[in-house]
Amino acid sequence: MQLKGKTALVTGSTSGIGLGIAIELAKQGANIVMNGFGDVDGPRGQITAQGVRAEYHGADMSKPVEIEAMMAFAAEKFGGVDILVNNAGIQHVAPIESFPPEKWDAIIAINLSSAFHTTRLAIPFMRQKNWGRIINIASAHGLVASKEKSAYVAAKHGIVGLTKVTALELATTGVTANAICPGWVLTPLVQKQIDARAANEKISVEQATKELLGEKEPSLQFTTPEQLGGLAVFFCSPAADNVRGQAWAHDGGWTAQ
Ligand code: NAD
Repeated sequence: MQLKGKTALVTGSTSGIGLGIAIELAKQGANIVMNGFGDVDGPRGQITAQGVRAEYHGADMSKPVEIEAMMAFAAEKFGGVDILVNNAGIQHVAPIESFPPEKWDAIIAINLSSAFHTTRLAIPFMRQKNWGRIINIASAHGLVASKEKSAYVAAKHGIVGLTKVTALELATTGVTANAICPGWVLTPLVQKQIDARAANEKISVEQATKELLGEKEPSLQFTTPEQLGGLAVFFCSPAADNVRGQAWAHDGGWTAQ
């Protein structure tokens, strides 16, 4: 229970990777500020089953004013955020010339700018305590590109850059910033891409899943939210006190090629 008494805010923790990370942090004793859309009670139950408190704020991460309200809510409920996991994200797949500008704006706002806002608001409390962890969920697409994902790849490369700057500005403090770069994780975000592939190519979902993995991920295996949670727990441990500004791939060899 190395995180007992600490508070972790995980954006987009009602589903997928964010929920997996919240559960692993809760297993270490951290109270959780949840955020995200959709069902709240189910995911909240999975977190509180670990014996911690979980409070939910429904801020839309594309709206800075709502992000400010969420950070104030975290301060009111728990006194502040010790561990900030910037995870909320969306995807849209289309060639640049037909990429809807409003989708570009939404992806940059949710996948990148939101992390700037939560980070700038979390740092003063972390500095005061001289301890903090900022963990940005980037992607293999923060390190390499794929076609038809212009906004996503731009946002994820951007968040890797933001992670490095954050780490440098805090390098002489007890606050670290690192990014996690997952390969494929079987969440609703990826299931949508698999289903679209199956429909486009008139193949089964099983075949589309095999193709998706085979194209990018040498291990031919999905990374799991639990594994990414384990990596987040490592970043929060004393062993990682001097790990700063890294973009840590957990991608079955995707970016080793
Ligand atoms: P997901 O769709 O399962 O979960 C996304 C979460 O973000 C949900 O809780 C959703 O409600 C929340 N969210 C979406 N828009 C929001 C908004 N405007 N405001 C607040 N919350 C919002 O997806 P996931 O696969 O778990 O993705 C989580 C993160 O991991 C994303 O940043 C994604 O880019 C990244 N990632 C995913 C994969 C993958 O293969 N699934 C790989 C690399 C990186």
